[in-house]
Amino acid sequence: MKLEHFNKMREKRKKYLLDENLGKLAKWLRVLGFDAAIYKSISPEKKIDLCLKEQRVYLTRSKKLSARKEKFTRILIKSDNCDQQLRELGLAVELDENLFFTRCINCNKILKLIDENKVINLVPKDVHKKFTEFKTCTKCGRIYWAGSHYQAMFTKIKNSLTS
Ligand SMILES: [Zn+2]
Repeated sequence: MKLEHFNKMREKRKKYLLDENLGKLAKWLRVLGFDAAIYKSISPEKKIDLCLKEQRVYLTRSKKLSARKEKFTRILIKSDNCDQQLRELGLAVELDENLFFTRCINCNKILKLIDENKVINLVPKDVHKKFTEFKTCTKCGRIYWAGSHYQAMFTKIKNSLTS
């Protein structure tokens, strides 16, 4: 896919800011390619400020926070089950296989393609043999590889969110 088209698609998608107690949900949103930021140890005011500035949807489990008067977009997450939380976001229509695993699940950074020769000592031998496309996070250095397991995983998530 052309990078330009790819970036446009990404820009159109919702971006999120989550409270620290929604770490697991943030990871899953990142797996699905959503920009899901968690800022540690900052005040609610600062978070709301960031939501307004960066046009993020604030996801919180706090009724008090979700009732605040400032004009930011928010979703009060009711469930403590991650699958249910994903459903609560109504993401089904925004799911896109092309964006699956394009973001680091730890840092929320966009992954960059890396030459397979450069990862030879960084991934298990059988993985290196089996896969040809590797991506890396420029912040934490974690390496990701695409394969049929991604496709199966994506289908599973999609089904669970649309059923
Ligand atoms: Zn990372």
